[in-house]
Amino acid sequence: METPLEVDTLERLWAKTVIRDGHWLYMGLRSVNGYGRIRVQDKFQFVHRLALALKDDADVDGLGYVDHHCQYRHCWNPEHLMERKL
Ligand SMILES: [Zn+2]
Repeated sequence: METPLEVDTLERLWAKTVIRDGHWLYMGLRSVNGYGRIRVQDKFQFVHRLALALKDDADVDGLGYVDHHCQYRHCWNPEHLMERKL
């Protein structure tokens, strides 16, 4: 079964990502709050949420609130992210 974050999506993410000091900075579309956004299967998703879904092989819609350790909202390095279960 394919995960929501398919290989194609990863390639699209990396195509617009700049690595700086360990941060994976998404330079594509951003929300007004500065979070990376990407369309997957006709639905816009937050890039950092997708990154964590991939790392944990989880469904992005089933994730709780995803927080950043670092100060870059458009960073999607899974090491800089953590999920807060409500
Ligand atoms: Zn970061």
